[in-house]
Amino acid sequence: MPSNKMTIGNVEITSVTDGVLAFDLCNFFPDIPEENWENYQHHLNPDHQVEFNLACFVIRSEGKTIAVDTGMGPNVDGKSPWGQLLDNLRANGTPPEDIDMVVHTHLHRDHIGWNLNSKDGKYEPTFPNARYWASTKDWEACHDPALVETRFPNAPECVWPLEDLGLIEFMDGEFSLTSELTTLPTPGHTPGHMSIMINSGGERGIILGDVLHNTVQVHETDWVSRADIDPATTRATRRDLMERLEREGIPVAAVHMAAPGFGKIVRLDNRRVWQVM
Ligand SMILES: [Zn+2]
Repeated sequence: MPSNKMTIGNVEITSVTDGVLAFDLCNFFPDIPEENWENYQHHLNPDHQVEFNLACFVIRSEGKTIAVDTGMGPNVDGKSPWGQLLDNLRANGTPPEDIDMVVHTHLHRDHIGWNLNSKDGKYEPTFPNARYWASTKDWEACHDPALVETRFPNAPECVWPLEDLGLIEFMDGEFSLTSELTTLPTPGHTPGHMSIMINSGGERGIILGDVLHNTVQVHETDWVSRADIDPATTRATRRDLMERLEREGIPVAAVHMAAPGFGKIVRLDNRRVWQVM
């Protein structure tokens, strides 16, 4: 079992999971014909599905404890393959009270699920000592009546109340979360999608967000999924970033790759591939 910790200079990243999701190919990649997967079976699970880990990356930087993304949320019906985040945070020595900042790569439902809980009709933060960061563009998108139902279905419960609670902070462009962590706009999947660049002690790393959903896209950068809101921008962002990460050899923490989700983009037999770290 690979370690669920990675260090970049003085920054420590711990990968903590909320569970795993799986989708049929025709569901998640409706525009990619089945036969195109013929040579890519090793990117799929034994049931021939795309499988997603739901990682929350806990970052320690300059005395701050930062949770990047908060999974799908509680296992309400008792049958869901998610809902494990709080238990796993505690098992990793990081109870919710220890989190100072919750940072969202974007505001899709599988990244915001544990933000809040409601008691007696009132919302409370699951992370009682944290402030919550979102990109301005995703904040606007998740309030757009044309997008809420199809693209941000749980934002009304998991994101909107942060404003009345006075807990929301906004980030735009290249925004410094700490002097070691800077956001990198990677739009397409959502309008305000953010990756996070780490620069510490002469080393670099990146928290990728949903620039990738499956390792096949490291090479097939044009393969967009139904979750990518703007396909053309998604393709351009992914292609540019994969080229850069390969060229610069930057270690990657990717939320949906198999746990813990640490890897590098390398070239093997003239193909760009995900190499597990
Ligand atoms: Zn996602």
